[in-house]
Amino acid sequence: MKLANLPRLHLATLPTPLHRAKRLSAALGGPDIWFKRDDLTGFGLGGNKVRKLEFLGADAVAQGAGAIVTGAGAQSNHVRTTVAVARHLGLACRVVLHSSRPPETQGNLLLDELMGAEIVFTDDTDRSQLDRHIIAEGERLKAEGRKPYIIGRGGASALGSAGYTACALELAGQLVAKNLQPDHLLCAVGSCGTLAGLIVGSRWLQAGYHLQGVTVSRPRGEVLERLQRLAGETAALLDLALDPVFDPAQVAIYDGYIGPGYGIPTPECIEAIRLVAQTEGIFLDPVYTGKAMAGLIDLIRQGQFGRDETVLFLHTGGWPALFAHSDELMTE
Ligand SMILES: *Cc1c(COP(=O)(O)O)cnc(C)c1O
Repeated sequence: MKLANLPRLHLATLPTPLHRAKRLSAALGGPDIWFKRDDLTGFGLGGNKVRKLEFLGADAVAQGAGAIVTGAGAQSNHVRTTVAVARHLGLACRVVLHSSRPPETQGNLLLDELMGAEIVFTDDTDRSQLDRHIIAEGERLKAEGRKPYIIGRGGASALGSAGYTACALELAGQLVAKNLQPDHLLCAVGSCGTLAGLIVGSRWLQAGYHLQGVTVSRPRGEVLERLQRLAGETAALLDLALDPVFDPAQVAIYDGYIGPGYGIPTPECIEAIRLVAQTEGIFLDPVYTGKAMAGLIDLIRQGQFGRDETVLFLHTGGWPALFAHSDELMTE
């Protein structure tokens, strides 16, 4: 199957803009920093998951789904956009959230509620058990006679990653039009689907930038394994003969910016959110892009990127979660 032949919904506002962050670059005394504004994909308040869901949602329709099932944490951007796509398609959405209901309904959880998601809390803090709970909910829906379409955590499948192979193509056109040749493209890494799609797209195009991922949850070794698998599956889905699809030398993965754990903002993450808001009027998020930017700032301070280099930061969205972290963001 070729990319252009894959069933796809058209929900995102594309192409997302490129933004030159002159004041941020000056404040850091560093490279020329640009943002690819995937926080502005628009649909359901935007972010990177919308690109994945254009393909996953179209597949749900093709399979005749009666409901969509997915899951994650209460502040999941993936869940929020999945619910939005389901409602757009006229489908129910059952959402499995780990742990128990937080005392306040804020940020993404509030949006899920407004859209009428069927929310189930696992009352189990072990995130690794979530996939099991999602599958069990799918079985329950089947027993109720509703045909479920299951979207795994983060939409990290070959079909979801194809959304970011398409993004690499979109970006290539923009770079040509702007006569811009970034040396590096840096993004936050969670379930790995975004970066895997970019790996396939940039290999296919023989793009000149070096990919850099800042992981916010998994250790580097696990990220590399997942990237290898997902990139291979995505290239196979799209019928791309790339040999090798994934060359670890093509991608740098940093796992030193996670801090105490996934979803817990570090002081450096909060500093990065404030700096970008104050220099550019752009909002990062406390779970993904704040930590990725903290990584970029640290790497610049270590001298990893020269002043004459250009770094493109993929802003993957996520700012609804800011409102669920106001206490941490306001302590200084
Ligand atoms: C999910 C998410 C990511 C990570 O993308 P993956 O494809 O899961 O690696 C990055 N930023 C934001 C805001 C996200 O919601």
